[in-house]
Amino acid sequence: MTETAGDPAPAVVLEAVRKSYGGREAVAGISLQVRHGEFFGLIGPNGAGKTTLVEIMEGLRQADSGTVTVFGESPWPRNTALLPRIGVQTQSSAFFARLTAREHLRTVAALYRTDDDAAERALALVDLTDRGDQRIEALSGGQRQRLAIAAALVHEPELIFLDEPTAALDPQARRSLWSVLRTLRSQGRTIVYTTHHLDEAEALCDRVAIVRAGRVVALDSPGRLLDALGAPTRLVIPADRITVQEAADIGGVDRAVLEGMSVVIETRSAGRVLAAVDAAVGLEKVQTRTATLEDVYLALIGSEQNA
Ligand code: ATP
Repeated sequence: MTETAGDPAPAVVLEAVRKSYGGREAVAGISLQVRHGEFFGLIGPNGAGKTTLVEIMEGLRQADSGTVTVFGESPWPRNTALLPRIGVQTQSSAFFARLTAREHLRTVAALYRTDDDAAERALALVDLTDRGDQRIEALSGGQRQRLAIAAALVHEPELIFLDEPTAALDPQARRSLWSVLRTLRSQGRTIVYTTHHLDEAEALCDRVAIVRAGRVVALDSPGRLLDALGAPTRLVIPADRITVQEAADIGGVDRAVLEGMSVVIETRSAGRVLAAVDAAVGLEKVQTRTATLEDVYLALIGSEQNA
């Protein structure tokens, strides 16, 4: 890896980037920067333009207008100086035909002039060592996806693009990939990734851009996006412990309603209300639910749809 620690220059800079297919604008003027060493997420509905945007950053597609720089250089036309520094996993990954997983990774490693040890490390990283001698066509969808991720990492790139890397993974494989991604992040690598798993984006990303209809409608850390939403905390109390009226009378409660077998309280003063509930009926079986990135996403995408 090139020594760039402390380098304040952003890894990726997009300015007013546009891309149309036929008459349809997939990316409608996006400006953003991915900081060096950042874990950057792109989220948004199907067809929002995320893949198109990532492919423009990767140098796989040409923007119609605007400027794109990766490590200060244009990725288009195909910039061979950038190739060793970036790793790419696409939604539809191509594999060398008829090879085993290990042979595939060794071939990729050779293309990047790294050795078989690098292939072995990549195989281990995605937990496929046991499957190394299996033909790729005999791997499951999730295993193939992990192999594609290993192929993107085999040359230890500084900047890694992952397009829905956890889409086909079972919950256990998804969690184990989270730890791989966190390790890469802790090594100072920059990660740009797309996902529809908002819990994952919230857990992993330093910042997320929410994209809708080719535009960025919000861009910030998950924490700041949540603060900006200003959503109330919900306390869920078994209905045999408190009435709606008693709940509504607690100081700091914005709203109290009966939902099934529970009284649900909404409050923006969670600490104060929790203390009052504790004093009145105790906290046993009382659940606290705070807003998630999914609430932010739905609020923004919903309001955009209504706009
Ligand atoms: P998803 O979450 O479904 O992967 P996305 O946000 O990645 O969606 P894109 O794949 O970038 O969205 O697609 C954005 C728009 O551009 C869509 O309307 C899509 O139909 C269109 N599009 C994408 N690729 C092409 C192409 N090669 N030719 C024509 N239209 C395309």
